[in-house]
This record gives sequence, C-alpha cells and structure tokens, in this order.
Amino acid sequence: MNNRPYLKKPEWLRIKMQGGQNLNHVQKTLDKFGLTTVCDEASCPNRMECFSKSTATFMILGSVCTRGCTFCDIATGAGQIIDKLEPKHIADAVKALGLKYVVVTSVTRDDLPDGGAFHFADVIREIQKTSPSAAIEVLIPDFKGNRDALNTVIEAKPIIINHNIETVPRLYSEVRPQAKYEQSLELLKRVKETTDGIYTKSGMMVGLGETQEEVLQSLKDLREAKCDFLTIGQYLAPSKEHHPVIEYVHPDVFEIYKKAAMEMGFKDAACGPLVRSSYKAHEMLQD
Ligand code: SF4
Repeated sequence: MNNRPYLKKPEWLRIKMQGGQNLNHVQKTLDKFGLTTVCDEASCPNRMECFSKSTATFMILGSVCTRGCTFCDIATGAGQIIDKLEPKHIADAVKALGLKYVVVTSVTRDDLPDGGAFHFADVIREIQKTSPSAAIEVLIPDFKGNRDALNTVIEAKPIIINHNIETVPRLYSEVRPQAKYEQSLELLKRVKETTDGIYTKSGMMVGLGETQEEVLQSLKDLREAKCDFLTIGQYLAPSKEHHPVIEYVHPDVFEIYKKAAMEMGFKDAACGPLVRSSYKAHEMLQD
C-alpha cells in the first residue's frame, strides 16, 4: 500500500522512554490475569508512560478483529472464542492495580449478533462490583448500528462512552472501509438521546490526507451529535503495509483544533501529536 517517499519523523514526535517499577508491576498483573491491552496490540507510543502511571486500556473479545482498517496494527481475521472469565479477570486486575480510571475497548466483532455488547456490559458490571469508585470509559465499535446492542452498554452505566470517527468522511473508503461516518455519528447522538447520565467522547487521527477544513467540519458534526470530549492525534503508520503517513501535522495546527473545539463547546479536547483515544483519559474528567 505504501510506495510513497519516506517522510522523516519530525522532532516533536520523539518520545522520552519511561520506565520504573510500576511498568513491570502493570505488565506482571496483565500477564497474571491473561489480559490483552490495546496499548500493546496497537503498538501505542505512550504505553511506557501510561503503564508507569498504572493506567492501561484493556482490550476484550480477543485480539483478532473481523475488520481491516488500513491504519490499524491489530490482527484481522475470524473472531476468537470469547473468554467468559475475562470480565472477572479484568475486575481483579483493576483491583490489583488500584486503578481509579479504567478504559475498556475491543476489536470489532461483526461475527457476533450484538457485536459483543453483552460482554462489555459484563465487564463494566464486574468492575463496578469490586471497584465501585473506579470511573469506567468504554471505547466501543459501531455494533453495525444495532440499537439494542448500544442500549445494552448504556444500561451498564459506564461514565464515558467513547466511539472514534477516526478520520473525515472523504477518507473512509481508504482508511476504515467497513465503517460508515454517519453511522458513527448516529451512535454518539443516540447515547445522548437515551440518557444524559453518560458522557460521550470521540477521536480522530490526522496526517492521513485530510484538510484542516475537513477536520473542523467533523468537529462541528460531533458537536451536533452533542459529543462532550474529543481527542486528536497524529497518525503513525505501524508498517509499510499500512496506510501511508501523508503529513506530520505541526503542533501549532493541533492548537488550532483544540481552540476551535473548545469554542464549539466541547467540555474538553486533547489535541497533540502523541494524543491517543485514552491517553491521559482520566484528566479530562478532572477539569
Ligand atoms: S475496527 Fe478497530 S480494531 Fe478493527 S481494524 Fe479497525 S481500528 Fe483496528
């Protein structure tokens, strides 16, 4: 897919390596409970920093996705057997790590009748049982627009329902061909129509060939869907087989997006080259 000239990484994407005993503690705990994180599966550049702060984003429903977005490093293919003990194991890990803020995401399971919504609900309820003070954010797939599936997650009462639009509508066919822009917006809108007790959040990557006007229009679309929180980060190609990086967006442009987002009424917006959907997610609720 990538026969474009190599784009040299700019200095603002240099990451200071983090370490420390917390890093090992988190890793050991994840291994002990046989848990997967999107941090590892998607090769997130921030995982050292997050792990050293005892935060991680748990990935449920296996590590193989039934879709194949061209920016994503997660394995694609047939969905794996669901681990019925996963909700308990995640709740045990949350307790063991003393997490105050928990993010749970998943691969997309178009092979399951409700896309795995029941499993999200089970995980949320298990965590609420053993760590009642922990704030839970779920980063969910689009469940192919299945209303009942979304209601299953809403009824479990996470504090934030996050669903990424990922990019601007013009690029969907080449970046996330199995998703629909309008369907993703509709999901966020439906959460707000169903309850005002849950925050919504969405995120985008830039540097895939979008224009600033297109990004600003997507922010307007998200606000029309009453989306509360926003993240925008730089796309980094996991390999030459993935969608190429078209541009390394300058930090000043991220400032423009942040300013515009706050003027549009988002409760908070994290915009920066290394920002990811659940990067420093807990800080957004603190403001
Ligand atoms: S649906 Fe999500 S996990 Fe699956 S390929 Fe796309 S981004 Fe990756």
